[in-house]
Amino acid sequence: MAHHMIEFNRIESCGKCTPCRLGTQALLDILDRFQRGQGRVADLDVIMETSDQIIKLSLCGLGQAAPVPVQSMILKFRSEFEERCIDGPQRPELPLAAD
Ligand code: SF4
Repeated sequence: MAHHMIEFNRIESCGKCTPCRLGTQALLDILDRFQRGQGRVADLDVIMETSDQIIKLSLCGLGQAAPVPVQSMILKFRSEFEERCIDGPQRPELPLAAD
């Protein structure tokens, strides 16, 4: 979901200002890695910092709003993102069914 929302905004970006044009692509590149199972815990901080810069420096509402959903997802579900990182905590094993 985070990937689709950033991808939509990257496509819709008119490219006039750099934070929106390059920032949304940078976020998309990181989220592509997460989709391939190659995300890292440090990527989550990069997403948050890059999103802050895009929000503060973009000229119009598209750029100012584009990173908000992915930021909110990381704020609310950071542990779930970390469990899917190659250097994150292992997912707890599910108990085996009783014999
Ligand atoms: S923030 Fe607005 S003006 Fe700037 S590149 Fe994005 S869509 Fe264009």
